Amino acid sequence: MKKIYLLLMLMSIVAAQSFAQRTLIHCGTLIDGKSDKVQKEMTIVIKDGEIESVAKGYQSPSQGDSVIDLKSKTVMPGLMDMHVHLEGETSPTSYIDEFKLNEADIAFNSTVYAKRTLMAGFTTVRDLGGTGVNTALRNAINSGKVVGPRIYSAGKIISTTGGHGDPTNSYRHDLMGDPAPIDGVVNGPYEARKAVRQHYKDGADVIKITATGGVLSVAKDGSGPQFQMDELKAIIETANEYGMITAAHAHGPEGMKRAVEAGITSIEHGTLMTPEVMELMKEKGTYYVPTITAGKYVAEKAKIDGFYPALVVPKALAIGPKIQSTFGEAYKKGVKIAFGTDAGVFPHGENGKEFGYMVEVGMPPMKAIQSATIVAAQMLKIDNKYGSVEKGKKADIIAVDENPIDNIHTMENVSFVMKDGVVYKSSK
Ligand SMILES: [Zn+2]
Repeated sequence: MKKIYLLLMLMSIVAAQSFAQRTLIHCGTLIDGKSDKVQKEMTIVIKDGEIESVAKGYQSPSQGDSVIDLKSKTVMPGLMDMHVHLEGETSPTSYIDEFKLNEADIAFNSTVYAKRTLMAGFTTVRDLGGTGVNTALRNAINSGKVVGPRIYSAGKIISTTGGHGDPTNSYRHDLMGDPAPIDGVVNGPYEARKAVRQHYKDGADVIKITATGGVLSVAKDGSGPQFQMDELKAIIETANEYGMITAAHAHGPEGMKRAVEAGITSIEHGTLMTPEVMELMKEKGTYYVPTITAGKYVAEKAKIDGFYPALVVPKALAIGPKIQSTFGEAYKKGVKIAFGTDAGVFPHGENGKEFGYMVEVGMPPMKAIQSATIVAAQMLKIDNKYGSVEKGKKADIIAVDENPIDNIHTMENVSFVMKDGVVYKSSK
């Protein structure tokens, strides 16, 4: 009798396994990331974290299937932000915090920002510079220990001495020292190669350089070039040998032009981009990652006395508001746009504001969404697995309450988040 009972139990386990559970998502409206058309009343079938099918109509579940009802929502691929800094958030104390926070503090903070980012609908991000905690955070998220987006980490920024990414700018001499390739500071092509190889060794996915001065560094110049051609070539060629894509922070046209000519994958901010640079970017297939939200935020905060150091204020006022119109011109000229916000310069989780700013200066809502889905996936070279809702892709899926084609600001309120088939947020 006992034997029969055991046999029956075993059989029922086998039967349950052969009905591997599928998840059916009923989508009132679907934006698949690739098509320019919005689709109505669709079903996405997910099995083992992968999209098995996308079909018209509300499919009925088979035995063992679960159904997620998003009939009142607009469903789309998980969003991708190509420019974030998950280790921190700027505030009036952030300059002094550098001297107070240990790596462990940064790590704990970063888990909060990572979760906030995922809950805002961003299932993939490119972290463009930190202390190296960003790479550890990536590993913790990948192994399921921390909740957050899939991260492509740049590790530390690569800069020249006194450049925008030099971590010791404005320090007292005995604290300043002489940062080297291991700190991300290089001078000359040999050091440039060494820094890239060090990044490879440290587990970085992408290389970020500061091709020109920047707004938030405590340094006078915000837009002049900070690398010479031999250094840029050494960095980009070495990065390419390791299969890493490259990103250049750049405000002024000369630094941008050099980086584009040397083969950079993307220009970040691009504030003072000239028509000549835009043409060159089109010719070379360079992506533009605008970060309008950060520009608007710093210009706003620079008006508050003491929010930024005195040296930063004029740069923030001059550069911040310019990014949006430059973006509008670059889009009209046909430069490839990949969505990016520079979150961390403004509060994490507000990344969705960028969509509204993009649409305000002429980008159609559908194109703005594609820049944050399929186009970003293409830039990261992960479009075989991510960036669209279609058969065979991983199930990174989000939903918003309204149709973003009618109201783009609905992108600021993401109500459903699924990453690799796991639901992290649901309005129910
Ligand atoms: Zn940045």
